[in-house]
Amino acid sequence: MGKEYKKDDATIIWDSSKCIHAAECVKGLPHVFQPKERPWINTENAGKDEIIATVSKCPSGALSIKA
Ligand code: SF4
Repeated sequence: MGKEYKKDDATIIWDSSKCIHAAECVKGLPHVFQPKERPWINTENAGKDEIIATVSKCPSGALSIKA
């Protein structure tokens, strides 16, 4: 389970219980992953490919793309 965020035809899932706050996402795309904002993921601020590339760097699996 996790919260879903849409970007074009992609769905990003964030599972807060898996997040270890490594901040790879924040370092990768600071305009998209903004922990101080609500919602904290703002997919309108980057392209789909960039978002998918950054999601794939999440070390814990908290961020994933819905297949
Ligand atoms: S990269 Fe993954 S584990 Fe790190 S803060 Fe972002 S969602 Fe959490």
